[in-house]
Amino acid sequence: MRLYENEAKTVFEREGIAVPRSHGVFERADGVELAIGPDSPVMLKALVLVGGRGKAGGVRKARGGPEAAALAKEILGRRIRDYVVDRLLVEEAVDAPGGACYVGVTMNPADFNVTVIVSPAGGVDVEQVAREAPDKIMRLELPGNDAMLPDADASRLAGFLASGLAGGPARIDALKEVLARVYAVFQKYDCKIAEINPLLLTAAGPVAADAKIVLDDNGLYRQGALLRLLGLTEVRHDVSEPTRNEVRAREAGFRYVDLLAEDHAKDPDRLYVGLVPGGAGYGIFSIDEVANVGDRFFGGRVVPVNFMDSGGGPTVGQVVEMFGLLMDYEAVDLVITSRFGGISSCDIFIRGLIECLRERRAEGRRVVPVFGRMVGTDLPNARDFLERATRETPEALADMHITVGNRTIMAEVIREGIRCAFDRKGWT
Ligand code: GDP
Ligand code: MN
Repeated sequence: MRLYENEAKTVFEREGIAVPRSHGVFERADGVELAIGPDSPVMLKALVLVGGRGKAGGVRKARGGPEAAALAKEILGRRIRDYVVDRLLVEEAVDAPGGACYVGVTMNPADFNVTVIVSPAGGVDVEQVAREAPDKIMRLELPGNDAMLPDADASRLAGFLASGLAGGPARIDALKEVLARVYAVFQKYDCKIAEINPLLLTAAGPVAADAKIVLDDNGLYRQGALLRLLGLTEVRHDVSEPTRNEVRAREAGFRYVDLLAEDHAKDPDRLYVGLVPGGAGYGIFSIDEVANVGDRFFGGRVVPVNFMDSGGGPTVGQVVEMFGLLMDYEAVDLVITSRFGGISSCDIFIRGLIECLRERRAEGRRVVPVFGRMVGTDLPNARDFLERATRETPEALADMHITVGNRTIMAEVIREGIRCAFDRKGWT
């Protein structure tokens, strides 16, 4: 469960980390002006559970009350990624003569080691720093899972931060203190992420200008005191940051999960496979099977890119969107589909697929080869429709290879699809 910024700041403040003085949380712009004097500079911050609000216009600075009210009007009601801004955190704007840095504690999913990450390049996306200036990041894995950050580690991390910050050397002890406290928060509250970005070096010492905490839902049963502190009477549905594809799928009404990061750099030596399975079980199976066939027969050069679940009984329009989304996804080289019609109908599925391909051909949009199989409910109608459509518009459907019935196992269909895609690329 991800906490809102004001909630995360409540936690950090309680654990001894300085945060900017809050003027409160506002749902209406007119309240803002009354709360703030004409000469108090403030930050207005959209309370939405996504990062990168700054770039999206969700974090603004105002010189005082009247300007704050005007800016509040602009931000409230606006959309940031998929979220409508209905609440604003307003707090004092702090100056950072000593610089801004990044401090984060998380867990390495590969080995479950608590991992502390710091960077003197604060306020920017840490993933971006990792790509563009990896020497500006220090990452320390702590296999001991200690409740407190060992002092020697705190010193190394603080030293690294201090050496890259104008005001760092004078604040090395304060930085150590913040590191120890963020680490302690991570452990005490069963966090998945405890992060401050930016941590500003003000004249009075380090201040957490932004705060992010993601709690591990599996630990919530022992975090009753925290939930009470935050006034949460029930566990909030865990909302994570959706990718563009995930937002598009949600709008079209089907479940979709990207397996690759949105900014994933495509490996030119691998084949990227999009999946349009039937239900959720088949969706999971397809991911495994594509990877498996890729490992056995294609030297491990095949990457499944998504999970998808049409849910029971999608409409033709939804099927068009399911394929359309993957065809618009530039990394995708091949689409593998499997309609195992139980609740949902093969007929609707094939109509959707064919409509998608015809539309895209007619409009000159990108078309990716589709290999798949269909079997189950409504198969006779689906087969008739497929045969007729192929006779009527053979060119538009040239990239579609659908096996009817279950004589051919899915692994064979997947293998054939990958084989053809490899041939197209001239790969062996
Ligand atoms: P995010 O973009 O969602 O991570 O939102 P942030 O809370 O990090 O705000 C975006 C940017 O606004 C930060 O990286 C800072 O550069 C800046 N910012 C936020 N609060 C303050 C503040 O109190 N003082 C100053 N000087 N800058 C701030
Ligand atoms: Mn931030």
